Amino acid sequence: MPEIAIIGAGFIGLASAAALMRDGHRVTLFDPAGVGQGASFGNAGTFAHYACIPVNNPSVFRDLPRFLLSNESPFRLRWGYLPHLAPWLARFMMSSLPRRYEASATALAALLDRAHDGYAPLLADAELARLHDGYAPLLADAELARFVRPRECLYLYSNSASFDAARPALDLRRQLGVAFDVLGGNDIRALEPSLAPIFERGVLFSNSWHFSNPQGFLQTLYLQLADQGLTLQRSTVDAVQPATDGASVTIEGATRRFSHVVIATGARSAQFAKQCGDPVPLDTERGYHVRFPGAQQLVSRPVGWAERGFYMTPMSDGLRVAGTVELAGFGDTRNRSLIDLLTFSSKRALPALDTPDSSWLGFRPTLPDGVPVLGRSRASERVIYAFGHQHLGLTLAGVSGRIVADLIAQRAPPLDLAPYSATRF
Ligand SMILES: Cc1cc2nc3c(=O)[nH]c(=O)nc-3n(C[C@H](O)[C@H](O)[C@H](O)COP(=O)(O)OP(=O)(O)OC[C@H]3O[C@@H](n4cnc5c(N)ncnc54)[C@H](O)[C@@H]3O)c2cc1C
Repeated sequence: MPEIAIIGAGFIGLASAAALMRDGHRVTLFDPAGVGQGASFGNAGTFAHYACIPVNNPSVFRDLPRFLLSNESPFRLRWGYLPHLAPWLARFMMSSLPRRYEASATALAALLDRAHDGYAPLLADAELARLHDGYAPLLADAELARFVRPRECLYLYSNSASFDAARPALDLRRQLGVAFDVLGGNDIRALEPSLAPIFERGVLFSNSWHFSNPQGFLQTLYLQLADQGLTLQRSTVDAVQPATDGASVTIEGATRRFSHVVIATGARSAQFAKQCGDPVPLDTERGYHVRFPGAQQLVSRPVGWAERGFYMTPMSDGLRVAGTVELAGFGDTRNRSLIDLLTFSSKRALPALDTPDSSWLGFRPTLPDGVPVLGRSRASERVIYAFGHQHLGLTLAGVSGRIVADLIAQRAPPLDLAPYSATRF
């Protein structure tokens, strides 16, 4: 039987493996770090099907100068990285113009609209499920995974002016089919009594859920797939060679041939796309988390503080405070002030919080228009791209895996893939 290679064992690689194995394929995953160790490890865990507003949106023209100068800003740029970043940043600004931003939001909403369906077979097949009382409509006929917490996500605004500034984006969400309720201060406190009384407005997004342990979910899924024959090779792939009747991967000078190769290497995918004829302007939005052990009971759902750019998510091992955007490339050096901002701001929101015991830095894969790349390579239809999921890789994993499998099976994907093509740049 022909064998398929997937490079990258994060949310996108694992979901692609699951979908391909459902079709009966033999699959080998390549990742030197093992399963769920990239951006997929430490994210906020939210199934954010409502998040169709990309970071590239018209508010950046208003907010960017203030963001770049303020200590309380969740958005940072490392100036030394600017020469490298300049072409990406120029495209990002262009993509923030109203017309282009609306095109990105529409493309994201079309994918997000299919995100629930994308997860349904993944969760059911993985036998991770346990139906949660009263939440059957979510994930249609599938049961909910034991890692899934079906609680609506709450976004908070500490003053009416910032809520008013967010109105156009909320209106566009509604136009694109996202359902939500607007809350006042009393409603917020009734929902989450541990929050400090500093939030004037809130938005509650219907039908959202979160994982109590994203990496644990991936590890469990991997073990199930491994039982069914999935192979994981802990190696770094150095190169991909496209061909008309297949594709090869090179590891330490040795080449292996596959019927298809799937590129799911998150923020590190540009090198492979270039080798397959598609130079893509992929960069990374770095993000951080801090963990407050044992503090998960303080909120009953993911709570995002919109102005400060982070979520507080109750996880199995504590409260995870995750977010911020730092444009600073792939270096390991952490920005202490962003970790402090997450710590300080979450303690302001939840005064009962004590001290975090760990922090984490992750690399979101982001194209300047905020839209992922999903489709075939220019050089060979046997190389499939699935990368660039920015803040939404967990949410979009199921539908992305399904699209990968549809392309390889020559089935019609669930939506027109033109907006996600690598050739759009
Ligand atoms: C702070 C933060 C919060 C977030 N919150 C959310 C959220 O709430 N909801 C949501 O939907 N998304 C969220 N995200 C985004 C989400 O985590 C990412 O979009 C997603 O993890 C990307 O998955 P991926 O599989 O494409 O990449 P990754 O998880 O980064 O996996 C890529 C893998 O490729 C491997 N790799 C790289 N190069 C090679 C090579 N040469 N050979 C072999 N393997 C290679 C890496 O080791 C890595 O394991 C968040 C991200 C961050 C940073």
